[in-house]
Amino acid sequence: MAGALSGKVALVTGGNRGIGFAIAKALAGQDATVIITGRDAQKLKAAADDLGRTARAAECDMRDETSVAQAFAGIKQEFGKLDILVNNAGIAGPAGKIENLNYADWRDVLDTNLTGLFLVTRAALPLLAAGATVVNNISIAAKTVFPGMAAYNASKYGALGFTDSLREEVRPRGIRVISLMPGAVDTDIWQQFWLQAPRKKMMSPESIAQAVLTAILMPEGTAMQEIAIVPTSGKL
Ligand code: NDP
Repeated sequence: MAGALSGKVALVTGGNRGIGFAIAKALAGQDATVIITGRDAQKLKAAADDLGRTARAAECDMRDETSVAQAFAGIKQEFGKLDILVNNAGIAGPAGKIENLNYADWRDVLDTNLTGLFLVTRAALPLLAAGATVVNNISIAAKTVFPGMAAYNASKYGALGFTDSLREEVRPRGIRVISLMPGAVDTDIWQQFWLQAPRKKMMSPESIAQAVLTAILMPEGTAMQEIAIVPTSGKL
């Protein structure tokens, strides 16, 4: 029997590992055609192979307007539409107080998590029609401050504002926009700022993917606008 997403085309940014890969796998498991993006071509190809025959890898640095345009030209040519957009790619950057924060690190985090989110969404909008779903992977860091992570916090507060604006803009077009707000998840992102992070206590990427799939499969006419998902204890 065909899966619930048979015939649907999904794009997952940052789909070559971590939460993005788990979401891509959950969507492919329901027979969606999944396109994953990332910068690491080798990892991207291996991940696409793992996702199955219909999956596609589209190399793309979402900080770069030209790179995003090229990736979307390919998607438009091959598929002509997108039913599901998962804006997932993101970085944490190094930890440190604001007085010690490098301009380059600040720019990298904001360019990826906020400007990249804008560039990909803007390029995707012409391909989305009524019934499409956009999932933006934000973080509890859009509402809770983590001292030493000012760039990450700022980017995620901004991403939440962007997502709330987007939702109202596309509501009349019948497009659903979901803010995904996970707590700590066991992925490689922690290596960027906290090598000793207690990753074994964190949620699995698969549990986040399960929640995302549930939201995407909500009946027509209903929209789960925000998914807050934390460990049972509420902490790490
Ligand atoms: P990972 O580091 O495991 O994965 C990040 C992904 O983003 C990779 O696929 C990476 O691919 C991609 N990426 C990074 N920079 C770019 C770029 N410039 N252009 C294109 N792709 C890029 O992290 P997670 O899976 O943990 O993070 C995914 C999202 O989830 C992020 O937005 C993060 O903020 C959010 N999040 C994570 C939480 C956690 O605890 N892990 C909690 C809450 C939210 P490549 O390096 O090949 O480009």
